[in-house]
Amino acid sequence: MKKLDNVIECYGCGTFLDISHADSAVKCPKCHSIIDIKNHKKEALAYAISALFLFIVLPSYPLLTTNINSTQLYATILDTPMMIYKEHFVFVSILTFFTIIIAPLLNSLLIIFSFFNKKPRKTLFKLYHISKEWGFIDIFMISCIISYIKLSATFQNTHFETGFYLMIIYLILFYLSNHKFDEKTLLQGK
Ligand SMILES: [Zn+2]
Repeated sequence: MKKLDNVIECYGCGTFLDISHADSAVKCPKCHSIIDIKNHKKEALAYAISALFLFIVLPSYPLLTTNINSTQLYATILDTPMMIYKEHFVFVSILTFFTIIIAPLLNSLLIIFSFFNKKPRKTLFKLYHISKEWGFIDIFMISCIISYIKLSATFQNTHFETGFYLMIIYLILFYLSNHKFDEKTLLQGK
């Protein structure tokens, strides 16, 4: 397997460019874009900060509301593990709490931290991988859609709320921050 230590992706066309001999900028041979190497990495930081901010405000907004016998019911992202816990599925509730709350939070925090960390830290590199692989917001979103379909079949006043739309934006930011992030900065420290 070839090591891809000094490669970045072109903004314009997605071509992978060798930056091992470039100082601050590199020109794409395919679409002729000039890519600022430092700014390219800062994008990950900007996306991670936005993702973190959105994730902090997310629990204040309900994801779904429904009306059962004229009682308005709603659920936020934090209510989900709590509801599972109340049903006495302790292990599942802990797992849900970790995958939809802890892992996504940790992921953004580690990306942000890597920009201020100058020392190589293997533990953080491992933690980053755990947070990336165990962050299940996308699966959680699909489960929200399934809940919506099931609830709306019985209760007509079922709606997606602000929290659900915020979660879509969050998912995009989460994806972009991880896509732009060079995880080797945690391992090598720069
Ligand atoms: Zn290009």
